[in-house]
Amino acid sequence: WFDQARFIPPDAIFALTAKYVADSFPQKVNLGQGTYRDANGQPWVLPSVNKAREQLLANGLNHEYLPILGLADFRNATAKLVLGSDLYSQRQSQVATCQSLSGTGSLHLAGLLLRACHGQPKVYIPSPTWSNHHQVFGSLGFPCETFKYYDPETRDLDVESYYSMLDNAEPNSIVIIHACAHNPTGCDPSKEQWKEIARRMKERQLFPLFDSAYLGFNSGNLDEDAYPIRLFIGEMEMEAGVCVSFAKNMGLYGERVGCFLLATHTGQAATNTQSMLEMLQRSEVSNPPGFGAKIASQLLGSEELKQMWYADMVTMSDRIRSMRKALYENLLALETPGSWDHLIRQSGMFGFLGLSPEVVVKLRVTPNTMSPAISISEEPMDIDTIKWCEHTEMLHIRRQ
Ligand code: PMP
Repeated sequence: WFDQARFIPPDAIFALTAKYVADSFPQKVNLGQGTYRDANGQPWVLPSVNKAREQLLANGLNHEYLPILGLADFRNATAKLVLGSDLYSQRQSQVATCQSLSGTGSLHLAGLLLRACHGQPKVYIPSPTWSNHHQVFGSLGFPCETFKYYDPETRDLDVESYYSMLDNAEPNSIVIIHACAHNPTGCDPSKEQWKEIARRMKERQLFPLFDSAYLGFNSGNLDEDAYPIRLFIGEMEMEAGVCVSFAKNMGLYGERVGCFLLATHTGQAATNTQSMLEMLQRSEVSNPPGFGAKIASQLLGSEELKQMWYADMVTMSDRIRSMRKALYENLLALETPGSWDHLIRQSGMFGFLGLSPEVVVKLRVTPNTMSPAISISEEPMDIDTIKWCEHTEMLHIRRQ
């Protein structure tokens, strides 16, 4: 039955992390995976999350199944958080929600629902992007088309290419939008550009699907980071999907805490799509995991813990900003050839260095042999993949 099975090379980022773990060099730094580290290079459990967990344990925790749609308190609190109190109170009856297996599961649920309602329209995906977008939507059979998002010359957002894609896109297609902290470029549209993007999308009847993996983590201010979502759904009165992850902003990476929100135009459409989400969830995971969602729900349900959490997000985003600045200043101090302004213009967890693929490959060396960790001949990567992995290039740099 399986003689025809193809070998699929491991995911580039996770493969690099495995190499990092195997490296015995004491001063190694993992720049590959998007997980926040403290000043000692250790994972950080947010104090607000710690406190929520303590309260949860003190109140008595059981391990019963959650409902198929997930914890209702968690789903409602997430919708209110993302839409903001005002928009939520106006539109809550028109919003379908379903707890998901973090951001990835949310994107997948969104894909299943869109396919069930609309067949397989085109999915426009920015280039570069988080590599899993193509896998999630490609594996569901959607024809995926990339559009140019980033200009390597200016090392900035290429908004004209973005507009031109929107003006020429097939009507009734889906567009994947990074709500903030674009992975991997760190370049987001300005408020004015967001308005223009929304206007063109509405005119062309394109469906915005927000990938919201970094709300609050980007600027430290969740309301600021949620700007485009509230603009499209509120001011522009568009239907939209929002795939929310609490992996980064709550540091709940492995607990798989996420939610899919669908803003529709009528209460009936919300009721119907939520019933479809329930059926789709049942056939895939039956019941979503409880522990992380209970922590998030405890946190979002308490004003005191929420304020602590906001402060924790400021701690993380401030530290990332100061790391960017330190890298920038050191590159200047070392008189490193080239310009590095883009490093401090970008925001969010990812730094896109703008190095050429050749330089990237040269910089990667294996622990003992000092030879390239991933040589092009040994594991062929196309140029896009190498570019996409730019932020991993220092993974195995060792001092000679
Ligand atoms: N979207 C983007 C843009 C991401 O960077 C990530 C995580 N790297 C995700 C979605 C999904 O993350 P998770 O499934 O862990 O929530």
